[in-house]
Amino acid sequence: MRIVEIRDSTVPISSEISNAYISFSSMQVSVVAVVSDVVRDGRPLIGYGFNSNGRYAPQGILRDRMIPRLLEASPEQLLDTERDNLDPHKAWSLMMSNEKPGGHGERSVAVGVLDMALWDLAAKIENKPLYQVLAERYRAGRFDSDVWVYAAGGYYYPGKGVEQLVDEMKGYVDLGYETVKIKIGGASIEGDQERIEAILRAIAPAHLAVDANGRFELDEALAYAEMLQQYDLVWYEEPGDPLDFELNAAVAAASNIPVATGENLFSMQDARNLIRHGGMDSARDWLQFDPALSYGLPEYLRTLGMIEELGWSRRRCVPHGGHQFALHIAAGLGLGGNEAYPGVFEPFGGFADDIAVENGRVRLPDAPGIGIETKRELVRVFDDLVG
Ligand code: MG
Repeated sequence: MRIVEIRDSTVPISSEISNAYISFSSMQVSVVAVVSDVVRDGRPLIGYGFNSNGRYAPQGILRDRMIPRLLEASPEQLLDTERDNLDPHKAWSLMMSNEKPGGHGERSVAVGVLDMALWDLAAKIENKPLYQVLAERYRAGRFDSDVWVYAAGGYYYPGKGVEQLVDEMKGYVDLGYETVKIKIGGASIEGDQERIEAILRAIAPAHLAVDANGRFELDEALAYAEMLQQYDLVWYEEPGDPLDFELNAAVAAASNIPVATGENLFSMQDARNLIRHGGMDSARDWLQFDPALSYGLPEYLRTLGMIEELGWSRRRCVPHGGHQFALHIAAGLGLGGNEAYPGVFEPFGGFADDIAVENGRVRLPDAPGIGIETKRELVRVFDDLVG
């Protein structure tokens, strides 16, 4: 088994939505296709990957460093001899050769995009869905047959009032979600309070989480914590800068509302600093590290090992990103759940076309790999890429 070609491209996912920190008016993602020499049903097996929304396409790093390192490797350097398959861990080490530690920046996104494609390919070679491959390798074959998911939306949008926001949230509940999430911090605190109250009235008994996207300085983060305290919210996400662990600890100590954070921490070491210094409560709070943005699954496995060593359960992990890669990881490795973006960031948001969310949970497709082929609009992106 060897890699014969790696194709990459940049795909726009621009829209008029914004959160408290950024607008998505020029957002794009990288997509990659790793073509193997393994032929099945007359066609080569190809692994597909893309990066989660919110970080721009890291095309320079992909083209200048990561893709050449994989293509220059000998087939033996990438081979899992025991399984006669590609070894994504070996590929990871090759991609990270001659890279200094720290300063993870967007290098971790480039590695994550390729790592997703490498796992998709490795699972296709085994002719199994990725969750099953992961369960067999890392969890003695045990997997979760469905995964708790919540609908992330509630962005700010020109001309969008409380009424439209409430309709959006009710729409997610109608789709089968029992937990929804909105952005906060892009309006005044009174404006956000009005949004929260209107939604809670409209969606009960479904639940609500709120996300500040790292917007607040300490005073504002604490003022929001006090305002939010009166509501029964699922969590208060990213109150302040993702690397301001002291602020995070102050918010966690000031309120009973669970804190959720981690989507902008891109390495095991950064995640460990959050656990060490962020004041997070392992019985109450949530960890949202996104494997597609943070060096892929090999690093995510290290992060899971780290949190367990520090007394956390992996059931407290609910990755950011709303992608099928993290959904398989959640099912195969026994995480707490996964984010979902029904109707946002199309065609990259959402899961298999023909599997509905039921009672706030979603099953996984039986298709080999991560199941990109089960999303009609998404597979079109990759068909364009490989021609
Ligand atoms: Mg978030």
